[in-house]
Amino acid sequence: MPDREITGEPINDAIARYQRSSRGRNTDTDVYLHVVPGCDYCADGKTPAAVDGKTRAGYWANMCEYHYFMHGLGLGLGRGQRLHKDVTPA
Ligand SMILES: [Zn+2]
Repeated sequence: MPDREITGEPINDAIARYQRSSRGRNTDTDVYLHVVPGCDYCADGKTPAAVDGKTRAGYWANMCEYHYFMHGLGLGLGRGQRLHKDVTPA
């Protein structure tokens, strides 16, 4: 995924493209969880995290799509993974 600051892409376009992107089971970029954590930035107890990733500040955080594009560094090993609800029986 290109860096938003490099492409200059409007954030809403970047989010829309993210939502259309592959849902394939790539273990470097996608993680399936029975319980998806909340966004650490929203911290409202109801906004689910879309990405567990490294932030520009250097630490890792669970982020919703909006905060991922505000603070995230991309997807892949050492950068971040998309979080998906695992719908298979536990
Ligand atoms: Zn958020």
